[in-house]
Amino acid sequence: MAQIAHEYVRLVLAMGHHDADYVDAYYGPASIKAEADAAKLSLDDIQKTVDTVTEWVKGVPAEGRDELAQLRHQYLLKQLSAMGARVRMLRGTRLSFDEESKALYDAVAPAYPDSHFQEVLDRLDTRFPGSGPLVQRYDAWRRAFVIPREKLDAVFKAAIGACRERTLKHVTLPPQESFTVEYVTGKSWSGYNWYKGNFTSLIQVNTDLPIYIDRAVDLACHEGYPGHHVYNALLEQHLVKDRGWIEFTVYPLFTPQSLIAEGTANFGIEVAFPGKERVAFEQATLFPLAGIDPARAAEYYDVQTLVDELSYAGNEAARRYLDGTMDRDAAAAWLEKYALMPHDRAAQRIRFFDQYRSYVINYNYGKDLVRKYIESRGGTAAHPDRRWQEFETLLSSPRLPSGLR
Ligand SMILES: [Zn+2]
Repeated sequence: MAQIAHEYVRLVLAMGHHDADYVDAYYGPASIKAEADAAKLSLDDIQKTVDTVTEWVKGVPAEGRDELAQLRHQYLLKQLSAMGARVRMLRGTRLSFDEESKALYDAVAPAYPDSHFQEVLDRLDTRFPGSGPLVQRYDAWRRAFVIPREKLDAVFKAAIGACRERTLKHVTLPPQESFTVEYVTGKSWSGYNWYKGNFTSLIQVNTDLPIYIDRAVDLACHEGYPGHHVYNALLEQHLVKDRGWIEFTVYPLFTPQSLIAEGTANFGIEVAFPGKERVAFEQATLFPLAGIDPARAAEYYDVQTLVDELSYAGNEAARRYLDGTMDRDAAAAWLEKYALMPHDRAAQRIRFFDQYRSYVINYNYGKDLVRKYIESRGGTAAHPDRRWQEFETLLSSPRLPSGLR
């Protein structure tokens, strides 16, 4: 298995030469990086080696090992299979949106007709009376909830502090864990966690577009605690440091691991702030820090809860745009109407589709799969301690989407 792990790391790093977004993180041995850089493997070489290493994994018996060792075995097979699919895509193979998400993320997200979203829009429509497109009425109402640029860092730090405190009550983290926060522009995403190893991350927040008050807790939980930073730190602690499994020192982005990463990062927001605790915290702390009227916190989250029901509208736009049944302008107009994204946000989202494609399902469908899995193991909202425990176990293991079912 050590040789397989070494080859796997080398292959992921080799993919980075053909696909700039492929290697999301690497903190393993510098010697393997040097090896991958020197070898300059072609896509053809990578495909052949993926096939060879896959046969090696299949040749190692997994039965009779402990659960983590069995999960490791399945993890390597799925990750290698996704790598092969990405190689074929880079060589020009066209997959449909659903074929691609199945091949890369081990999952196919449900599809919804327009009427599903229209029903939510009808309910929202009654909240914002007046004429003109609903997206404009919603956007005008929402302007009062933008975090002013000069208050962003203070608000974001307070949110991180609260997420961290809540996480530490339930999850044992390495004492030296930490991260830094940077504000950036010119990106297709709104936030990013770059894991650096030794339990440290760099978190970047994109300030291209206005940042609304809900993004503070969302980003602090998603990128930090108990999201990506915690996930990566627990994998490093339990799989790399404790077991010496170096394949976890590399994180290839377009693979099933990303559905677990994004799904847990999004579900983690609810785990950290169950029920009404979020509104209570924001009303008492974040709204005043941001200079937003705290008396409007409940009103804001009432609307947000409804808008969240439109989350799969983004997948529909991506599916239709990438499958070629909608062009760029039509997809932007569809996002404005059905996902209530103002024009500039819709345009940013389409740049995200261009760059990351079917990756979009990892956020909402990933969250739904993670929630179902945690709840099926007793980690329901009514049993918060159990929920944290199951959540920590999932974050500390190499379990992949098909293993959630
Ligand atoms: Zn994420």
